[in-house]
Amino acid sequence: MSHIADNIREIKEIIKSAEQRSEGRSSDVLLVAVTKTRSAEEINRAIEAGITDIGENRVQEITEKHDKVAPVRWHMIGHLQTNKVKYIIDKVCMIHSVDSLKLAAEIDRRAGEHGITMDILVQVNAAGEESKFGLGTQEARQLAADILDQCPNLRIRGLMSIVPFEDDPEMVRIYFRMVRELFETLKETSHPRLDLKWLSMGMSNDYKVAIEEGSNLVRIGTAIFGER
Ligand SMILES: *Cc1c(COP(=O)(O)O)cnc(C)c1O
Repeated sequence: MSHIADNIREIKEIIKSAEQRSEGRSSDVLLVAVTKTRSAEEINRAIEAGITDIGENRVQEITEKHDKVAPVRWHMIGHLQTNKVKYIIDKVCMIHSVDSLKLAAEIDRRAGEHGITMDILVQVNAAGEESKFGLGTQEARQLAADILDQCPNLRIRGLMSIVPFEDDPEMVRIYFRMVRELFETLKETSHPRLDLKWLSMGMSNDYKVAIEEGSNLVRIGTAIFGER
């Protein structure tokens, strides 16, 4: 557990070298520490080691830990049920896992109640895996258009993707590339609430490849904190 700071330092070096190999596709990568199942104490140790952004995939863990850790930005990265949006709307800086208009509309409604604009990412399931949430590229484009039309309190900041786990991360390079290409296509649209900045892809096992393909936000748990 005391290796958290060492792990973070090492990951940051790996991120830098992957940025250099990305041929200009990626720079200034944001490292989001994924803290599911971790205690507030472990999270605080990561924050002391320089972590500014943390990601959780369950609403309950956000509400339980939010006030127990030092001030940082919280990211909702997991599947979100519409009836739970209200618990996190004032606690997170960005919701990565928007994969339906129904969910977007509820986030929009709650953001409106709080007088805020919520940053969101559209979740893409590039590999078309049945077991994962997220949309095909065509559906993702449609959802983005619908959100811009119908959700005045949301700002689309980019795309998020989770790819299949492979022992050899080279196997998933093609999916990261597909998501980046979709990202480039979306950039051709101009809209005041389409402010594309983040390509959230890459986890402990595959973040190097993700950055080489253009990711600028990686979500890393195991490589920082050890096996869950
Ligand atoms: C758990 C999780 C991660 C981090 O996975 P690791 O393999 O532990 O780095 C990233 N993104 C999401 C959505 C997760 O649920």
